Amino acid sequence: MGNASDDCIFCRISRGEIPCRKVYEDDEILAFHDINPSAPVHFMVIPKMHLENLYDADLAHQELLGRMMGRLGQLAREQGATDGFRVVINNGRVGRQEVYHLHMHVLGGPERLGSGMNRT
Ligand code: AMP
Ligand code: ZN
Repeated sequence: MGNASDDCIFCRISRGEIPCRKVYEDDEILAFHDINPSAPVHFMVIPKMHLENLYDADLAHQELLGRMMGRLGQLAREQGATDGFRVVINNGRVGRQEVYHLHMHVLGGPERLGSGMNRT
C-alpha cells in the first residue's frame, strides 16, 4: 500500500517505463487514454503514488483526491466531452477492478454516451 510497485502497470506508466497516450501530467497526477476505450472519449486519471483503490485512501489523501476530481471537467472538455461525461471508479472484486492502482475513468464524447462501463 502506498508504495510504487515494480509489477503495477499504472506505476510503470507513471514512471515512463510503459508508454501511454498522455492527456495531462503534473507532480502528483497523470491522465492518459484507456487502451481499450468504452466510449468516444475515454481516459483515466491516476495518482502517481500507488494506492490500490479507495479502500487504500483515507483523509490523508483528500487533497490528492480533490486535485484529481478537480481536473476532470477541464480535461473532459479539452478531450471533446463537452456535453457531459461519466466518472467511474471500480473498486475491488465486486467492483470488477482489473488494475489495482486507483484510477478514475472519464467516459464521454459525442455519441454512445452511457454505453461504456455499464457494469452494474
Ligand atoms: P478497471 O481496473 O476495471 O477500472 O479497468 C482497467 C482499465 O485499464 C481497462 O479499461 C483497461 O482497458 C485499461 N488499461 C489496461 N492497461 C492499460 C494500458 N497499458 N494503457 C491504458 N489503459 C490500460
Ligand atoms: Zn501502482
